[in-house]
Amino acid sequence: MIFFWGIRAALTKTVDFAIEKCPYCESTGTTSGRYFSRHFHIFWIPIFPIGKTGYVVCSQCHSKRDTHLMNPGLREAFLQEKKTAPRFRFWQFTGLALPVLFFMVGVVAVTFNEKYAGKYIEDPKSGDTYFCTQNNGYYTTYRVDHISRDSVYSHLNNYEIADREKLSSINRKVNYSKTLLSFSRKELLELYKNRRILKVERW
Ligand SMILES: [Zn+2]
Repeated sequence: MIFFWGIRAALTKTVDFAIEKCPYCESTGTTSGRYFSRHFHIFWIPIFPIGKTGYVVCSQCHSKRDTHLMNPGLREAFLQEKKTAPRFRFWQFTGLALPVLFFMVGVVAVTFNEKYAGKYIEDPKSGDTYFCTQNNGYYTTYRVDHISRDSVYSHLNNYEIADREKLSSINRKVNYSKTLLSFSRKELLELYKNRRILKVERW
């Protein structure tokens, strides 16, 4: 894989130096200072800022000048303005913030799922799907068919799978056996507390 990384810059401030005369086209009032915050990027995703830079440019002839080409008066004004140019924009930390953000979304999703799985098991509905681990270490699913006063009747999936992450792939209507298995509501709660039921899906 080709790995693109490098330095890019974001414009943070523009200042007009009205009395300055361009040494190339000799226009007056066309010189402005442009300040940038540079950042390191990987695949154009900014990772972190690495400092300010800038130059003056003539809007008439588009010639750019670095500090060593500025006359002393302009250089001083340019450097003075550079002091108040923003050091960075917050989006330049995107690359660092993303993993933190993904982690937080993950935590919220897991907490949410656990909270609701508990509620779904206490109040089962026809069509609920239970994602479970089995004694043999494999994973499978049950689908609730109907509920009586104290029992839940469900169809067992004919398939089981070793990879928990791929459990959804066997959760298809055609995969369920016709036979009904019954669990008492109490049993279901126990299975959930012992983490044998990992997740409950309800649409
Ligand atoms: Zn010019």
